[in-house]
Amino acid sequence: MPAHEDLKKRVKMRELPPAERIKNFSEVALGYNAAEARAEARRCLQCKNAPCVAGCPVNIDIPAFIGKIKAGDLRAAHDVITAANLLPAICGRVCPQETQCEAACVRGLKGEPVAIGRLERYVADNYREEAEDEIAGTLRGRVAVVGSGPAGLTCAGTLRRLGYEVRVYEALHAAGGVLTYGIPEFRLPNDVVEREIGKLKNAGVDFCLNTVIGKTFALTELLERYDAVFIGAGAGLPKFMGIPGENLNGVFAANEFLTRVNLMRAGREGYETPLKPIKKAVVIGGGNVAMDAARTARRLGADVVVVYRRTRAEMPARAEEVEHALDEGVDIRFLSNPTAIIGERDFVRSVKCARMTLGEPDESGRRRPVTLPGSGFSLPADTVIVAIGNHPNPLLKNETPGLAVNKNGCLFVDERLMTSIPGVFAGGDVATGAATVIAAMEAGKKAAYEIDCYIKKSGAVSY
Ligand code: FAD
Ligand code: SF4
Ligand code: SF4
Repeated sequence: MPAHEDLKKRVKMRELPPAERIKNFSEVALGYNAAEARAEARRCLQCKNAPCVAGCPVNIDIPAFIGKIKAGDLRAAHDVITAANLLPAICGRVCPQETQCEAACVRGLKGEPVAIGRLERYVADNYREEAEDEIAGTLRGRVAVVGSGPAGLTCAGTLRRLGYEVRVYEALHAAGGVLTYGIPEFRLPNDVVEREIGKLKNAGVDFCLNTVIGKTFALTELLERYDAVFIGAGAGLPKFMGIPGENLNGVFAANEFLTRVNLMRAGREGYETPLKPIKKAVVIGGGNVAMDAARTARRLGADVVVVYRRTRAEMPARAEEVEHALDEGVDIRFLSNPTAIIGERDFVRSVKCARMTLGEPDESGRRRPVTLPGSGFSLPADTVIVAIGNHPNPLLKNETPGLAVNKNGCLFVDERLMTSIPGVFAGGDVATGAATVIAAMEAGKKAAYEIDCYIKKSGAVSY
């Protein structure tokens, strides 16, 4: 039994050392082995009214699955998790656990909270279940899902379990949404995402790739062929700052840069996706997307400076990701804001910035950055990556009469997650604006149950 003091600290997870990892795209965090997982599981107090469960948006029975790890029963642990969460290998890696399940953990009152996310990942990575059987029996109806990100995947998988025939329409040539094209492989390997999607395929979810709803087929066509539609089209339209020089060659939206490298494999041997060699990159923003872009540019051999207008305390990126970026040699300039991108013969040469201070809180409650007069400075750059947020793409709204959006361009949904068109539901980033994987999954799961009620009530089953 570990000493009382030892129980205050979580079991460390092994990582690739920074000098090694910046040369490749291999996953940085290596996961627990069996002994480490059982030692961490022993820290769980098996609280009766476990507050961690309420901290998890999909309400996994956390003490139950940790108890099964302690008992060495990986299959039972996996069953407990997947009863509530269809993508555990993904959530165990990228959920902001520190502000969710782990923030509520009782162990955290007098030490470090139980490493719930790491334990979830351990179970998902190490339990290899037999392929889930095709779901048999009477089919209850047909549902189309638009978009294969975490919202769409969760909605599709849940509906399939409820007995529906489900087809997922995806614009890109690969499924997964941001999990595949956005989050880099050093945080979330594509084969982990493919494995989770493979389980849904085995259960009978059908995928139709390279199909843009609103172009290839109208949303109204789907409504004619299916009993209901779920839209999980994400928020893929990048925001820009509106400063001079943003249309120079060498300026990227973070999503485009990451898609080229993650999905299209630019810069890797054997792939032809164009990307000019990068020597000096400036990344603008302070969220997970900015950290991912900066760390990706480092792996492509660049010196990287991140420019963020507030302080480290206000950074929206996960603390662990900021730490990893700093360890990998990314230079973060806090309280700094770009004012212009300077070019020569249409190519980026430098970024002009100003120093900031923090003033009174704004409507979001965060202190407003204020420019310090006469504080200008310049950063040399051949590449600028803008990572200041995304909006939903307006294509579906523009192509679908009667599909209402709010003032931020997000699809309007009621408390059942139904849009302004009866039978069309929506959830995830397309309805909330850029958020998190687990929030998108929560919406996908809720929408599946609402769709089930809607189809049952309307009696309009296509079988
Ligand atoms: P998406 O994942 O965006 O998926 C939408 C899918 O719909 C896409 O595949 C798109 O191609 C498809 N689509 C769009 N329009 C159409 C159409 N008309 N027809 C057919 N298909 C269409 N969250 C975390 O919790 N932790 C993290 O560490 C984290 N890191 C991130 C890093 C990056 C680089 C980015 C960009 C985001 C990150 N996020 C993170 C946020 C998280 O990934 C998103 O909140 C989440 O993926 C939203 O899921 P979604 O299913 O709503 O949409
Ligand atoms: Fe925690 Fe996310 Fe797992 Fe829920 S899904 S237990 S919030 S890591
Ligand atoms: Fe275990 Fe922490 Fe949940 Fe209690 S709150 S059951 S210690 S994980």
